[in-house]
Amino acid sequence: MTKLPFSELETAAYCPRKLYYLRGDELEIPAIVAERRQLAFEYDRLLDASDAELADLPLEVPPAQFRANLKRATEFDAWDRLRSPETRAKLVEGKDCRGIVHKVLGGDSPIPSMVFTGTPPETGVWEPQSVRAVAAAKALSWEHERAVEHAFVEYPAHGIVRRLRLSTRRKATYRRVLRTARALDGPPPRLHNRSKCDACEYRAECGVKTRTLRSLLGG
Ligand code: SF4
Repeated sequence: MTKLPFSELETAAYCPRKLYYLRGDELEIPAIVAERRQLAFEYDRLLDASDAELADLPLEVPPAQFRANLKRATEFDAWDRLRSPETRAKLVEGKDCRGIVHKVLGGDSPIPSMVFTGTPPETGVWEPQSVRAVAAAKALSWEHERAVEHAFVEYPAHGIVRRLRLSTRRKATYRRVLRTARALDGPPPRLHNRSKCDACEYRAECGVKTRTLRSLLGG
């Protein structure tokens, strides 16, 4: 059976119809995404950087906030491995999915850390990103023949790092999304909850009105 890319699972968790559009597209990684990802590999330098230096970087929060967030991240037991991972950007092949694991932290069992360039939720991790992190953990577990019980998720433009337990609920969501992505054969219905559509780059193709247009039309 075809192994699905981690990115497709993340998209299917966001909206299956978006995955339908995405599959027909050749996507390039925007420069800002690459720049923000790189920040996750420069934590030592960033912890010592001045406000002026931080202000020149593609951060999403002011320097003082960034520094405070990153200082909090240093309290993780795995901090040394997060700031200086054993393996970086590793292509991992699992039973059902494949993709790049941004950091593989060594130890008794491998631990994946996935880097995201957007804004984190108040607590925890957005569901599509949780699905991608679980996919990475599953693939790593398959490759190493070792159980992987948790993963890290990093938001380097905020200096935020979160630990994610591979709970029964998270694994069940991953399996549901995997089934949906595999079964995709034609455009699925649009989302009922349109709050995600405003940020979707396929909304014109999809035929969904943006919030601005809806408000202009009084909708
Ligand atoms: S506009 Fe909304 S319903 Fe359409 S693909 Fe995007 S997220 Fe899905």
